[in-house]
Amino acid sequence: SARPVTITITGAGGQIGYALLFRIASGAILGPDVPVRLNLLEIPQGLRAAEGAALELQDAAFPLLRQVEVYDDATKAFSGANLALLVGARPRTAGMERGDLLAANGGIFGPQGAAINAGAADDVRVVVVGNPANTNALIAASHAPDVPAGRFTALTRLDHNRALGQLAATLGSTVGSLRDVTIWGNHSATQFPDVSHATIDGESVPNLLSARLGGADAAREWLVDSFIPRVAKRGAEIIEVRGSSSVASAASAAIDHMRDWVQGTQHGWTSAAVVSDGSYGVPEGLVSSFPVESVEGEWRIVQGLDLSAFAEHRIAASVGELAEERDAVRELGLI
Ligand code: NDP
Repeated sequence: SARPVTITITGAGGQIGYALLFRIASGAILGPDVPVRLNLLEIPQGLRAAEGAALELQDAAFPLLRQVEVYDDATKAFSGANLALLVGARPRTAGMERGDLLAANGGIFGPQGAAINAGAADDVRVVVVGNPANTNALIAASHAPDVPAGRFTALTRLDHNRALGQLAATLGSTVGSLRDVTIWGNHSATQFPDVSHATIDGESVPNLLSARLGGADAAREWLVDSFIPRVAKRGAEIIEVRGSSSVASAASAAIDHMRDWVQGTQHGWTSAAVVSDGSYGVPEGLVSSFPVESVEGEWRIVQGLDLSAFAEHRIAASVGELAEERDAVRELGLI
């Protein structure tokens, strides 16, 4: 039988952690044949919540779950980790400047990157969920010089999935029939959800939108005035309706990201924030969202896509924000 895979989850006592743990233990990332060991990392004030979740994991009697450990020490928690989901982060609070937020998170993600460098398994793969996710991933990667840069990623799959949901609802299709939607840039309000290459059963989504909405101008207007802002600001919409932030959908997207990374993408591409190799003019080293396929356990940026002037402009704006965040953390000495 397969060897157990060790998965480290930070912020495991929080809300997203609670929504993640039970699905991971049921096999949602690695499939029904691979046993898992869970290492839960928390800060001292989150430890009891993580310990409580560990008790519940025991009570759920998942056949694949071989071990659960709870730590407040990053070095121990990342020791031997094959997969790491970095969920715990310092949230922005009222009156907090961006520099304060980046500094607080640098104090979390720098040491975690160093702990991954020191003790994670050779095949470690990391996804950062905690915000500002792209720049937190950059900080972690910069503290892990012995780990290939391609092993550090940030989550934009929730934005991607939100885009699929909106398109399916508008076009009366299923999310499973949609192919080749892209989120570009930062996991922030500047992100660019791009449907220009998307298809449903081989038909172009822009053409289907024109047919549905009464012409190309109406389709363009819908994309710019409704679709793009709605996807980018969906988090605020969820908070307003639900009374608290998105949790289960964020956890589900993190699982989709890891499952596709480990098991491969099957039908066209998806979106993930990966360390740029300079593709599409995104400066090398920035952790930016791209169209990606997972092949043999590695994310590969889909090459050679034609971009309209509109798309180039939107991508440049979001990438510009990432460059500013990188410059800010550099100035703070965090990378
Ligand atoms: P959540 O579990 O709800 O969220 C955790 C992180 O995920 C936040 O940074 C949040 O960003 C981010 N996130 C990313 N995408 C989304 C999305 N679409 N919707 C909502 N959140 C998203 O927060 P909790 O406060 O419940 O839990 C955080 C836990 O992390 C706490 O238990 C805390 O103790 C722990 N923690 C652990 C650390 C560690 O292990 N070293 C370090 C710091 C904290 P945003 O703030 O923008 O909503």
